[in-house]
Amino acid sequence: MTAMLEVNDLHVSYGKIEAVKGITFSVDEGQVVTLIGTNGAGKTTTLRTISGLLRPSGGSISFQGKPIHSVAAHDIVALGIAHSPEGRRIFPRLSVEENLILGAFARKDQAQIRTDLHAAYDLFPILGERSKQPAGTFSGGEQQMLAMGRAMMSRPKLLMLDEPSMGLSPLMMKRIMSTVRTLQSQGTTILLVEQNAQAALKLADKGYVLEVGSIVLDGTGQELLASDDVRKAYLGED
Ligand code: ATP
Repeated sequence: MTAMLEVNDLHVSYGKIEAVKGITFSVDEGQVVTLIGTNGAGKTTTLRTISGLLRPSGGSISFQGKPIHSVAAHDIVALGIAHSPEGRRIFPRLSVEENLILGAFARKDQAQIRTDLHAAYDLFPILGERSKQPAGTFSGGEQQMLAMGRAMMSRPKLLMLDEPSMGLSPLMMKRIMSTVRTLQSQGTTILLVEQNAQAALKLADKGYVLEVGSIVLDGTGQELLASDDVRKAYLGED
């Protein structure tokens, strides 16, 4: 069986700077897979390349068996890949509901879009309670919920989350991570980028450790949590 997402020897450069230096990894249907690593490791660059926002300088990306590394970003959304970006990138002056509806831009099934809007409100009740408020009035954690809700509105098969825990309180972070689990149990496959290695590895079926553009270690979430190298470098242990 081929993996849902296969990234093979991917290279991505910004001008002369190579940010991703030949990484290979895969995500199977139904899995939560995490990419962990410190600042500048190339995690965001990898997600932006899968989304079609950046073009690789080498290697390939396939989704459900078809190459997508030359496909336009809006067509990649239509194929079933959603991206909740780092820093959330919500539209602060638009209402919560308008932000959510924007997530469904590639869809035409209006009735189903309304159903999915209510599913987002079930997942995150605060979004429903404050659906008419400008999104810019939300706290960081609430904006993270909105960014995830918006990504879900495209009905993705694969949801990519870029540092969903960034800047959140420990309590809010727990809620976001438990939502990742809920989404997985509802059938969504998830590629999770995190600096919070502990939280991500606890959830993950599989993890990859990135350092300056290369994968230096991989394994199941449990294996990486138990690894001395990971514990020293990413979990702050001696
Ligand atoms: P962080 O956790 O800090 O977001 P990251 O692992 O997501 O880090 P990237 O944002 O992918 O890392 O950055 C990888 C490398 O590419 C870094 O050295 C970064 O400085 C460089 N880089 C990122 N974006 C650009 C850009 N637009 N132009 C030039 N260099 C860039």
